[in-house]
Amino acid sequence: MQRKDTREVVMGKLVIGGQNPVYVEGMGRQNPYQVELAIQEINRAQAAGCEIFRLSIPEKDALEGAKKIKEWTKIPLIADVHFDLDLATECVRLGFEAVRINPGTLGDRSRLEELFSVLQDHNTVLRVGANAGSLPTHLRSLPRVEALFESIAEMVDFAEKKGVRNLFLSAKSTEVEETVEINRRLSKAFPYPIHIGVTEAGEGLEGVVKSALGIGLVLFEGIGNSIRVSLTSRDPVLEVKVAWMILNFLGLRKRGGEIISCPTCARCRGDVVGAVERVKTFFEEQGIAPPFRIAIMGCEVNGPGEAREAEVGLAFSRSGAIIFSKGRVEKVVSDREVLEYFIAFLAEKIKSVEGKKGGSS
Ligand code: SF4
Repeated sequence: MQRKDTREVVMGKLVIGGQNPVYVEGMGRQNPYQVELAIQEINRAQAAGCEIFRLSIPEKDALEGAKKIKEWTKIPLIADVHFDLDLATECVRLGFEAVRINPGTLGDRSRLEELFSVLQDHNTVLRVGANAGSLPTHLRSLPRVEALFESIAEMVDFAEKKGVRNLFLSAKSTEVEETVEINRRLSKAFPYPIHIGVTEAGEGLEGVVKSALGIGLVLFEGIGNSIRVSLTSRDPVLEVKVAWMILNFLGLRKRGGEIISCPTCARCRGDVVGAVERVKTFFEEQGIAPPFRIAIMGCEVNGPGEAREAEVGLAFSRSGAIIFSKGRVEKVVSDREVLEYFIAFLAEKIKSVEGKKGGSS
């Protein structure tokens, strides 16, 4: 997949844009008042693979907490500010790697000049983030994609005239089709890196599928330099996990492995569903992710083929199951001992993979 080239911006240790990886962003639920809870949340998201974290700064009183959170956080932080540009300016002074402003919720625009000047002094990135739910009043009569595009274009034009080039763009809609359209337009019109997301995608499965489609289709066109999955949940960890799955399945990044398993059918020779659940529980109990591809298949039709492609595979058969390791039959096990043997075998394999990693670092 050819990635569209863009300018690069620097956020902490990350260089975003150009041919750099597509990074995973997370967003906090906690108010920065709750310093400890906010830091715990960032740490959980980071452990799940979050590489950039967006923190809402709702009012002036949140700045003290934001300062402490900034001091304790190792990944780049984006301060998300609406209605009060002075808050954005303060966050730049606190060392945030980026501030996000929304062209539809700027508040007193005369404060932009000071923000731009402080941004340049600190070499801080400006995320211009438009959202279909908060379009500038003068653009609301336009079709949504047009309005999103114009709101970004106006702000980019204004920032460039003031010499600000450290820009990172984002325009979000709740619709998959609009998400694709607006990002195509941004990518064609501007040389800056683009952050991709489907805003307010919803809860659970609905939100996951909508996000995967919207973000995935844009990424598949080579557009996008960071992503965030927006799910209605109390914790950002699920969003981060889904974002990584999107990147993994598109072949853009690699983090951990995956469990491939068949849906089962009338030919199924064993309890595939139970086996997958057991393996997932094992990973949860161990607090680890599958470090390689594992296949769990129901019969001898596709089973051996798929299981052979995986690092570790299990294919149920008439009398039990065949356990594969890197394409070779490791053992033929009887019905009763299948899961016990498979879990023990997985544990051994993981230990040897982790051991090799440790040895080479
Ligand atoms: Fe059915 Fe076998 Fe395919 Fe599973 S692998 S769906 S059991 S044919």
